[in-house]
Amino acid sequence: MKVTFLGTAGSTLSKNRGYPAILINDDLLLDCGEGTTQKLLQISSIDSIRTVFFSHLHNDHVNGLFSLLWYYWIGNRKKPLEIIGPPRTRATIESILELVNTPDDMMKSFQVHYKELENAEEIKVIDTIYTMRYVDADHRIPAFSCTIESNGHLVCYSGDTRPTQLLETLAKNCDIFICDATMPDEWAKFAHEHYHCTPSDAGKIATNANCKKLVLFHIASHFVNQIDKFKRQAEKEFKNEVIIAQDLLELVL
Ligand SMILES: [Zn+2]
Ligand SMILES: [Zn+2]
Repeated sequence: MKVTFLGTAGSTLSKNRGYPAILINDDLLLDCGEGTTQKLLQISSIDSIRTVFFSHLHNDHVNGLFSLLWYYWIGNRKKPLEIIGPPRTRATIESILELVNTPDDMMKSFQVHYKELENAEEIKVIDTIYTMRYVDADHRIPAFSCTIESNGHLVCYSGDTRPTQLLETLAKNCDIFICDATMPDEWAKFAHEHYHCTPSDAGKIATNANCKKLVLFHIASHFVNQIDKFKRQAEKEFKNEVIIAQDLLELVL
């Protein structure tokens, strides 16, 4: 199982970090922030995407999809694309496509299949190319955390969320726990008010869930020069390996 970080910034973009997108093997995208199409071209994985999963419908996680769809339509893609996300995913995407004057006759070369997930106060399973499970995140709007299981390995992605017991349950015993770490610990009050985690929150969840590795993700641009501190703060709470996600970082399980 391979995990490639395409974009690792959160909320605001920074010079060396794109908006959130994580590629699982070469066919499943977790979120599709601005710049994802170009990153997929750089790693020659543009043609193998079969499913896009949206953790939630905020600007930073969604806006790369329109460039990707235009790329596929103009390139005459034939394979269907599956899009999974919270309620109103389809209406949101179709509205934006219309607002940006996507020609009707362009949108016909392949089928887009939408799957909108219902709320999940307990772990639910998504029927897709991998065994995926998800629970509600705590992020003001409908949002999910998920796991992906492949070849006996388990990856958990928090999406954007405040720390929750549900996330701890979902992340249990995973090989890689990718967690929202938007702001450092001294900003905890602000981070929680804005429905995000800090490095310590991520470390505590990783410890309580017995995760093997923790990846800090969704770093806000204001703090990119402080990432060593992020690592130290997480390491105080979690004794296994802590990794700061970077664009195009690849982890192989
Ligand atoms: Zn975000
Ligand atoms: Zn968000």
